[in-house]
Amino acid sequence: MGRYKPLSVLVVDDESFMLKILEHMLRQLGFSAVTTIDNGEDALRQLDGVDAPQLVLLDINMPRTDGVQLIRSLVTSGYAGSLILVSGEAERVLETVVKLAKTRGLNVLGHLQKPVSPQALDALLATWEPPALRETIRRPATVYAGDRLRSAIADGELINYYQPKVNVQSGDFIGVETLVRWRHPEDGLVYPDQFIPLAETYGLMHELTMAVLHETLCQVRAWADAGLRVKPAINVSMENLNRLTFPDDLARMAEKEGVLTRDILLEVTESQLIPNLATVLDTLSRLRLKRVHLGIDDFGTGHSSLAQLSDLPFDQLKIDKRFVHGAHSNPTARMIFIASRDLGNQLDMEVVAEGVEDRADWDWLRQVGCDVAQGYFIARPMPAEALPGWISRWAERIVEERLLTPNGGHADESGD
Ligand code: C2E
Ligand code: CA
Ligand code: CA
Repeated sequence: MGRYKPLSVLVVDDESFMLKILEHMLRQLGFSAVTTIDNGEDALRQLDGVDAPQLVLLDINMPRTDGVQLIRSLVTSGYAGSLILVSGEAERVLETVVKLAKTRGLNVLGHLQKPVSPQALDALLATWEPPALRETIRRPATVYAGDRLRSAIADGELINYYQPKVNVQSGDFIGVETLVRWRHPEDGLVYPDQFIPLAETYGLMHELTMAVLHETLCQVRAWADAGLRVKPAINVSMENLNRLTFPDDLARMAEKEGVLTRDILLEVTESQLIPNLATVLDTLSRLRLKRVHLGIDDFGTGHSSLAQLSDLPFDQLKIDKRFVHGAHSNPTARMIFIASRDLGNQLDMEVVAEGVEDRADWDWLRQVGCDVAQGYFIARPMPAEALPGWISRWAERIVEERLLTPNGGHADESGD
């Protein structure tokens, strides 16, 4: 069970038998405030008030108002609670509905296939968090002007958050990924999706990356001075690699801060077209000669292609979160994950899984095997000051939550 628990749960399903089973499971898991409703119309009325339940288990196939229509109404009424979608439909249908609900801004914990297993239900419930804690609540997109972003970079309004990575087998802390945020004086913490594309459009990626890199290296130095060796991973865009002086700029900065280039990893995503292949190859080769590690990011999404693996000197492959989170119960994701991991292994690359969001993801990953894990289950991205505290807490969690204990010893990769 997670650290938090929803106070009230509503189960909506047209089959009374199913309602009984789910209610029973919830009570077994320690939930006392469980309500059941057998149709969409009544459910909507229940969900449209201030005392709406904090979590809804919703069957998407119902005779009159079906789950998809209900989702639409929940969006309109501004429902702020969490949803778990339940269905006997094929996995892909469920996933499409989950995606739809998420795209419309609802907080979906995940989906359950009928017959629902208590373990799967428990695993999803463990991911529930009070609305106030959800990092995923992002304010409506504001479009910032290029000049505003330029001054933000120059004035030091960008700050780095760091997300830890751990060894899947030993649990050891092995480094962090730097994720930039914009501490906007009026708008609060602004996430990279809202300004990285803009920086690309306005040709500000060099300034942005150098600012992120500089702050990271200073921080790594400060951690080292405090006795903590941290290997940082920094995201770079094609625009950075399209600049022949980038390897020298980076090496100079690292030397100035006393950070070894072989401790640094650059994560590359192929965002648009490779601007100039010859320049990018030149830059990447020279970075490798300087012992900087190169990782291919978001593998499997189509932004990163197989062709890159053979052409470019990458030594880390990061499998995108869509093939990690929930892969244990999603055959397509699972196959893509396994194929990517095998490819990485065969090419002698370190394989990292991002998007390890819950205990089920973690256990599954340990079972199928992969080098490194990163994700909300391990830690959310955090300000630099929080890292030492997280390291000690993680060591405690390994013991308390028995994170390194095999879960039943099922060695079967297919997970079936
Ligand atoms: P990314 O490189 O794929 O980074 C991982 C993103 O997934 C981060 O989002 C991180 O907060 C989020 N994440 C981590 N663990 C989990 C998890 O368990 N579940 C889920 N659903 N998400 C998780 P964030 O920080 O919003 O960054 C978004 C993207 O912005 C990054 O994706 C990266 O492409 C880009 N970005 C961030 N910082 C920089 C930067 O300094 N330079 C460049 N060029 N791009 C950056
Ligand atoms: Ca990345
Ligand atoms: Ca990614």
